[in-house]
Amino acid sequence: MKHALAEVLAWQDDPGSGLKPVERPAPNLASTMLPLTIDRRRQPPPPAEYRVATGAFRYWTAAEALRRAADFWAGIVPSTTEWWIGGALPVALDDGVDLNANYDRFGLHFYHQRLAGATVYTGESPDVLCHELGHAVLDAVKPQLFHTASMETAAFHEAFGDISAILSALQLEPVRRALIAATGGRYQSSQVSRLAEQVGAAVRRLRPDAADPDCLRNAVNSFSYRTPAQLPPWAPASQLSCEPHSFSRVFSAGFFEALCLMASDGQERLTEDRLREVALDAAGLLVDAIRSSPVPSRLFADVAARMVAAAGAVDRRYPRLLHSAFLRRGILSAAAEAGGDAPKSNVGLLTLSGRPFGLGETALIVQAAGGADESHAFVRWLIERGRIETPAGRFSAIPSHPHTVRSHRLVELDDQLVLERILFDCGFHARS
Ligand SMILES: [Zn+2]
Repeated sequence: MKHALAEVLAWQDDPGSGLKPVERPAPNLASTMLPLTIDRRRQPPPPAEYRVATGAFRYWTAAEALRRAADFWAGIVPSTTEWWIGGALPVALDDGVDLNANYDRFGLHFYHQRLAGATVYTGESPDVLCHELGHAVLDAVKPQLFHTASMETAAFHEAFGDISAILSALQLEPVRRALIAATGGRYQSSQVSRLAEQVGAAVRRLRPDAADPDCLRNAVNSFSYRTPAQLPPWAPASQLSCEPHSFSRVFSAGFFEALCLMASDGQERLTEDRLREVALDAAGLLVDAIRSSPVPSRLFADVAARMVAAAGAVDRRYPRLLHSAFLRRGILSAAAEAGGDAPKSNVGLLTLSGRPFGLGETALIVQAAGGADESHAFVRWLIERGRIETPAGRFSAIPSHPHTVRSHRLVELDDQLVLERILFDCGFHARS
């Protein structure tokens, strides 16, 4: 309580967004709902307005962004929601050299990398912080998504992370003002739609085509839905691939366009209050939709349809606007009445033959969403990208790539192998 009146200086949005740091009340990380703990073994710097580019500034800007995001989601999710790990979610603000960030169920991890004379800390960007926190929130709300072997489910997790970054930024009044000044609420590129500008610039130095020209990803884009099987395994940022971060842009764009339509409909001039209200409404519809979804193979369409079906109870204008945004994106079809053709749930364990993966007679057990073809394609993609860790010295048919983060592992169970996810890796992949 002694810090109740203290103020800290914090980024409003990404350090590369052009928006300056602002004064914010010192956050209480140990808040009763969705509590957090940062760098547990170190004494935090006393709350104060520190100079940008100091460790103490980075601590408080991270604490402020994470607490703001967790408080936002705490107001949306059921009041009994807990982190998957239970208790406070540990955050490691600087886990060593890498241009990366991840969520592994036991906490959030951020890193640093020196490039062209400057050091980029991924844990300094509210966009990256609130994206990773989004993975943890979605895992708390819908834990079954974590191990599901499907491209679309993995991409949905990434989309939720980006949506978390956008909605958390919109909790700050100056950010809402900047968005309205820049776009008037229309679906146009802005500080808010551009995600992780600073990390995006660092990624471009390492691999020029791996990020957008002005950010890592932009929720204002022209990508539309294709079944992941029709997409290339990876591609430059300017094209859609089935890689989860790339493919996630279809859903996050559909959601953000819906948000813009909901905000500006019937408004002569969009106000900051109205924008804040719509962010809450859209987040509530999204969380309710994913909670009630049976996680079919077409998860994007199922969540979109559920949002449309429930939206009328919130505001009678919403269903038409949501439907229009998701229709334009190819996520919903014109014929499909929202929530009409309820897809069957396909969640459950599925046994795949190990032979196509070079595992001989050893069967492979995965958690499925959709049929065997979808799971097969997902496993093949993980193998080709070198993303699976195997039991030591076994299964030489599964290659390992020295510079790729292993997101999954194979665990031996009797005579079979089980595919498990280790973490959601933020996937800058600039080195691979
Ligand atoms: Zn992610």
